[in-house]
Amino acid sequence: MSEKINIAIDGHSSCGKGTLAKNLAKELGYLFIDSGAMYRAVTLYILNEGLGLEEVEQDPAVLGNIKITFEFDPVRSYYETFLNGVNVENEIRSMRVSKFVSPVSTLKVVRDFLVTQQQNIGKDKGVVMDGRDIGTVVFPDAELKIFMTASAEIRAKRRYEELEKKGVHVNYQEVLHNIKERDHMDSTREESPLAKAEDAITLDNSSMTKDEQARLSLSWARGVIKSLASS
Ligand code: C5P
Repeated sequence: MSEKINIAIDGHSSCGKGTLAKNLAKELGYLFIDSGAMYRAVTLYILNEGLGLEEVEQDPAVLGNIKITFEFDPVRSYYETFLNGVNVENEIRSMRVSKFVSPVSTLKVVRDFLVTQQQNIGKDKGVVMDGRDIGTVVFPDAELKIFMTASAEIRAKRRYEELEKKGVHVNYQEVLHNIKERDHMDSTREESPLAKAEDAITLDNSSMTKDEQARLSLSWARGVIKSLASS
């Protein structure tokens, strides 16, 4: 039996990390974890409880009330996110949460809380996790690291179309603005900013189809698994 590896997929907002990660996990029989969904779930909790960011920083024990779990939905072929037992998959993708998630993600207490859980999930290998700091902080020893990017306009267009398809009507300019704002906040924050790990492979998918990206990343993963098996 071949050794399992961990795969870290980082990159800017809305550049298809989730789709690529989900596909890799399916092909390899690995677990897919969307770390952004965890930050979104914490954000939803904070919003619903009416907590201020300072309050959370001063009393991180409030985070102890948050339990995030994932359940596989075979119909959508997707892991859905549950916050304290409630399916919040759609709610965490709303603009209300998107607007507040980056400020919440700057808090060290929130990052420590989630990184511990993420590292625990990956300790037995066989995990594909996507996010911003997976290759740099969560799994610095991941055997394969991919850093994805694409222009902000292309990402906004894709995100807009995805939301429209779901029946969520939004304004394209608002989506673009949100993406640029999140890029800026994610890359300049003090705690674990979005950064390419030195040993990550860059995948600019501005002019690539989903199939091309899937094939390429799968060939990278199989190459790493094979070279580990023969070493
Ligand atoms: O991946 P997604 O766009 O859903 O992530 C939402 C937000 O969560 C990001 O804009 C970023 O602020 C934060 N995030 C993070 N670290 C991660 C994953 C997401 O800070 N590993």
